[in-house]
Amino acid sequence: MFTFDDKSGRSLTRRPEGTASICPSYVEHGMHKRAQPVKVWYWGPFFRHEAPQAGRFRQFSQVGAEVLGTDEPSADAELILLLDELLAGCSEVRLRLSSLGDAETRGAYRTELRDWLRAREGELSEPVRARLDLNPLRAFDSDDPGTQAVMAEAPKLLDRLTDEDAAHFAEVRALLDSAGLEYEVDPGLVRGLDYYTRTVFEFESGVLGAQAALGGGGRYDGLVELLGGPPTPGVGWAAGIERILLAGYSGESGGGPRVFVAVASPVRRREAFDVVRRLRGTVHVEAADLDHTNRSMKGQLKQADRLGAHYTVILGETTEFKDMRTGDQREMAVADVLKKFGDG
Ligand code: AMP
Repeated sequence: MFTFDDKSGRSLTRRPEGTASICPSYVEHGMHKRAQPVKVWYWGPFFRHEAPQAGRFRQFSQVGAEVLGTDEPSADAELILLLDELLAGCSEVRLRLSSLGDAETRGAYRTELRDWLRAREGELSEPVRARLDLNPLRAFDSDDPGTQAVMAEAPKLLDRLTDEDAAHFAEVRALLDSAGLEYEVDPGLVRGLDYYTRTVFEFESGVLGAQAALGGGGRYDGLVELLGGPPTPGVGWAAGIERILLAGYSGESGGGPRVFVAVASPVRRREAFDVVRRLRGTVHVEAADLDHTNRSMKGQLKQADRLGAHYTVILGETTEFKDMRTGDQREMAVADVLKKFGDG
């Protein structure tokens, strides 16, 4: 917690994360009375009093999304796919996934794990040993080789899930599989906060070093009630903006080509404007643009190059479609250009 005394001696604490404040506001603003589920998102500064290092700051920015009021696995899968889409512009992204079951299963498992670890205490690192009673699950996070060797053999929470929780997890996985999303089931994935139930997940980037997490989250079916509301299931994630930028975010979340529209006959200028507008609305184009400064044909092609256009559509006496990488150019009707990129 980022806690400090202000000038008049009041103790202030800055918010470390968003989920715990969304839950009471869901009740306070009567969102529990709306048709469920309710989907919300947020963005803003957050604060943690951790030792700063590369990728870890005391003030950072998070974007987050939450779905409250349903425990359907489809909500979990939808949110994971949303975050995957957001992170598509980052380098070397991988996803780890697990399920923590319900509070009861986890309580029993915690005791089992603690007793199991006690028996091999001598092989564990000092910080892990010190926290054995408080939170033995955090031992899975340790980067101490001795501890890691022990944890590889430790009993797994995933093997202790109730039938209902196991079926929930299987359904989340089936939905992600059918969407073609790759992930690793990691029984050692333990999110830092105690309020998670069932699904937990974390996206990481291989280019980030020690602070590799780009974003993550999970299900928190007991949290709204814990904070004074009616029993309400929920699931959500938060992602770090600075980390996303450090992971080489290219902004190419769609990944489609860029298209430039050049005007060779001034009478087709208005049409060019319209074609750009329609290209921007197509599924398979990442960006479309045209010249706004009356450049010559040569100048327009240069500008297309500068903007990194993959294709240029030339509107003159005919309509030409030029592949900027190969230089190939052929006649193509505007309607066919639009169709090529998913419109019409
Ligand atoms: P968490 O709630 O800890 O899972 O945080 C969600 C995301 O926020 C992480 O995956 C990071 O990308 C980012 N984040 C968390 N703590 C920090 C920090 N101290 N500095 C920068 N980014 C952070």
